[in-house]
Amino acid sequence: MQLSLKEAWTRILDDVRKEVPEKDFKAWFEPAKPVALDGDRLVLGVPDEFAVQWNEAKHVGLVARHAERALGRPIAIVFRVDEERLARPQMDFFVAPPPSQAAVMAPNPSAQPLNERYTFENFVIGKSNELAAAAAHAVAEAPGKLYNPLFIYGATGLGKTHLMQAVGHIVQKRTPGLRVLYVGAEQFINEVIEGIHGRTMPELRRRYRTEVDLFLVDDVHFLEGKEATQEEFFHTFNTLYEAKKQIVLTSDRPPKEMPGLEARLVSRFEWGMVADVGQPDLEHRIAILRKKQEQDHLETTIPDEVLGFIAEHVQSNVRELEGCIIKLLLYASLRHREITIDLAREALADKIRPGQETQTSASRQLPSIDKVQDVVARRWGVTPEGLRSKARIKTLTVPRQIAMYLAREVLQMQLVEIGQAFGGRDHSTVIHSVDKVQRQLQRDRSFRERVESARQELYAP
Ligand code: ADP
Ligand code: MG
Repeated sequence: MQLSLKEAWTRILDDVRKEVPEKDFKAWFEPAKPVALDGDRLVLGVPDEFAVQWNEAKHVGLVARHAERALGRPIAIVFRVDEERLARPQMDFFVAPPPSQAAVMAPNPSAQPLNERYTFENFVIGKSNELAAAAAHAVAEAPGKLYNPLFIYGATGLGKTHLMQAVGHIVQKRTPGLRVLYVGAEQFINEVIEGIHGRTMPELRRRYRTEVDLFLVDDVHFLEGKEATQEEFFHTFNTLYEAKKQIVLTSDRPPKEMPGLEARLVSRFEWGMVADVGQPDLEHRIAILRKKQEQDHLETTIPDEVLGFIAEHVQSNVRELEGCIIKLLLYASLRHREITIDLAREALADKIRPGQETQTSASRQLPSIDKVQDVVARRWGVTPEGLRSKARIKTLTVPRQIAMYLAREVLQMQLVEIGQAFGGRDHSTVIHSVDKVQRQLQRDRSFRERVESARQELYAP
């Protein structure tokens, strides 16, 4: 019997409900929406990135089990942020959504909406970002006049998108008729590809070259190696630049360090101002957390000493800091416990670094190959035995390649050893697998995040 996507999901939900506490069911399963069932993959949409991670870590196996029962074949479960809700800021999962400012203006059909929280008021300035913030502010006050383009670069989660959108907010507020076009470079790439295939390039060019006053392009490092798109981007850039329209770009690297980018683009990217954002220091991290506390009215829920504790232990980036608050709130609310340092230590065990004096990264214990297989299997909704088997169905090959990659990268195992741990495969298969994963890591951000979060779990106690 063929079940439709909806029927299958209803059946799975009924089963899951019998197995998990009602609270978990309401928090995690009810909000999920079945998006697609293609072959052996069931894609579920959830409200935000945090729910994706949480579900991947906790619920993939459970859902996969019931999906197999409902559909009569092994099913891989994929969680993904629900497209319709992408525009919503992450934290409003916990707080009442702000009154919507509907109908902003007839938008450019390519424009992605600005996140309402990404304003200058909400941006905490410190040493690591003061240059970028000052430049962004200046550009917002006098678009097209001072620095054009403004190029902001830095590692992930350090506020590039936030700053760029803050420029958009200011400009939009001051001159409501002004056309702000915010796009991710990935979207631009996709539109160019579609434009070429569908012969709609003239329309695309009109949209990008004439219907824009402020051009915000996020993550331009994705343009690397994409020649046709770079060509298109080059001409778009020139047209807007000549018309004195402000351009703001972000990237994970400075222009000079982008070998896959044509020289003429590199040099244009350097025409205006190139500013970096770095990692915030301890004081800055505390200030950022205080800001979130104030914004979300959490003063009475999360005591200051807990904020201090998080700021001290989570040093990598701001997104991670925010993730900790979300996780902590959730952890406390599911358990009806008050938020204290002890609770934070418990809830954030996988995110906080062990105290430097007790453990250095060198003495940190390496996980076992069994753990690698277990973690990957659970997160990709298959069994560890499946990973070790000879079966070559797609639902197994992808996680198997990832597990091999992690065995190589994290455990630094020999190729032959890895082959043996995965059902006696030969070393060339292992090389091919590791290679394939590496290539996908480079091009696919959500894949990268997923593998990264699996890697982190390997070190969790
Ligand atoms: P990037 O684009 O550099 O990867 P984002 O702009 O998406 O990073 O920032 C990640 C999260 O951290 C966002 O929720 C953003 O609001 C927040 N954030 C980053 N820097 C700051 C800051 N200086 N002050 C307040 N929030 C910040
Ligand atoms: Mg960004």
